[in-house]
Amino acid sequence: MEHFTNIIGGRSVPAASGRWLPSLDPYRNENWCAIPDSDQADVDAAVDAAAAAFRAPEWAGLSATARGALLRRVGDLIAGNAARLAELEVRDNGKLLNEMLIQLRTIPQWFYYYGGLADKVEGAVLPIERPDHFVYTTWEPLGVVAAITAWNSPLLLLTWKLAPGLAAGNTFVVKPSEFASASTIAFVELFEQAGFPPGVVNVICGTGQGVGAPLVSHPGVAKIAFTGSDAAGKAINKAAAADLKHVTLELGGKSPNIVFADADLEAAAAGVASGIFAAAGQTCIAGSRLLLQRSIYEPFIETLREMARNVKIGDPLDPETQMGPLANLPHYNKVLSCIADARKEGLVVAWGGKAMETATGGLFVEPTIFRDVDNEAELARREVFGPVLAVIPFEDEAEALRIANNSQYGLAAGVWTKDMARAFRMSKGLQSGTVWINTYRALSYMAPFGGVKDSGLGRESGQEMIKSYMQPKTVWLNNSDQRPANPFVMRLA
Ligand code: NAD
Repeated sequence: MEHFTNIIGGRSVPAASGRWLPSLDPYRNENWCAIPDSDQADVDAAVDAAAAAFRAPEWAGLSATARGALLRRVGDLIAGNAARLAELEVRDNGKLLNEMLIQLRTIPQWFYYYGGLADKVEGAVLPIERPDHFVYTTWEPLGVVAAITAWNSPLLLLTWKLAPGLAAGNTFVVKPSEFASASTIAFVELFEQAGFPPGVVNVICGTGQGVGAPLVSHPGVAKIAFTGSDAAGKAINKAAAADLKHVTLELGGKSPNIVFADADLEAAAAGVASGIFAAAGQTCIAGSRLLLQRSIYEPFIETLREMARNVKIGDPLDPETQMGPLANLPHYNKVLSCIADARKEGLVVAWGGKAMETATGGLFVEPTIFRDVDNEAELARREVFGPVLAVIPFEDEAEALRIANNSQYGLAAGVWTKDMARAFRMSKGLQSGTVWINTYRALSYMAPFGGVKDSGLGRESGQEMIKSYMQPKTVWLNNSDQRPANPFVMRLA
């Protein structure tokens, strides 16, 4: 079995304790590699290495232009290693090679984009009403950033943090999910090859309690950039408040995908299927609540049943496969128990609803559709993170909006209609970080992404987000010889 190691200060090292955790290939249902089961000692070593790199002239002395060049170089290396990295991700989390290849081939764009932005963050000279003072601002990096990620798209989620954070001049300790760490280790190795000084990007593997929690409360960490569940996000926010760390939280969702009768129904059906069956529903932006206008209710459900029946399920490495297994055993059990709970609640299955037996013993769950779901039902409220759709009928626009917004979450929403005035009204009314009109699951390095309510705090991607890894400094420069008239009062201008 292959053993992957931590990377601390440029050195590949096992956990100080010598302990290992197995990592599962969910398609074969067998452990395929081992990762370090790190703890406080490894956290301390990694934060020390990142703090030393932050101060060292090899990194702190680089111009923003030089940092940008390094980011572009690592983007090229990632592009050159896309197939290898994508295969590691598939092995670890069972997602489709097709999807992971697209992610890996697009990830370099984030490094090129923020590489270009690195030397375009400008301070200002402030026109203060004091001729004898020259006042200006500069933007400085925060220090050591802890990037903690989920297992569903490890490298994309990490890229959203590393690209702006490194462009801004910070250093990193990365903590990938214990269920899918291998690709992150292979990815971080590329940074040193690109010329980043050792210690600028460190990675330590282990559990949320063993590594994540001590990392969050480590006094040497300035910012936590987190992607994961809302439960862990809230615990992290609380812990980080103890010493006022900066925090960005990208959390879960229960996103409404809203189909009006006037939509292009073929496109809408494809959008609904892509919203819930792509990645076997293991995506934070899953359109897991389908809000369906009553006048098209029955025929649309029939179309969806037909699509679910024809989903090609199997080996995630096969380019023909449309849905792979669930990523790990605890998660597989959670999704099956959500389905069982929904049945107990009396909800009606329109398609699927069972685990699937396969020759490899993989962790497969059928594409599943529950119909006539009340928005108050548990299935409509909790994030399943699996291929399980709750279909909710609505009468008109006002009711659709009311149901859509009646959720603790607000990550994304889809609207399918040909009426652009309605699309505009809906986009204004939806309480959600992203609204897709006649499309779904579309992302870009230029487009800010994140949630409202329990779906998160802060945004990732887009021009402004580089500043979420920086802080302004204001400099007051007195260029006169005059002494203050009264040193005991504040100098306000
Ligand atoms: P999770 O919260 O269980 O774990 C995420 C990461 O946090 C892991 O690395 C884990 O080890 C670590 N962790 C757990 N508890 C911790 C703690 N108390 N302190 C510090 N670290 C801790 O989530 P998961 O099961 O890995 O991922 C699925 C969740 O992630 C879903 O809710 C999904 O919606 C969300 N997600 C959100 C986005 C987004 O961008 N909004 C993207 C992908 C996934």
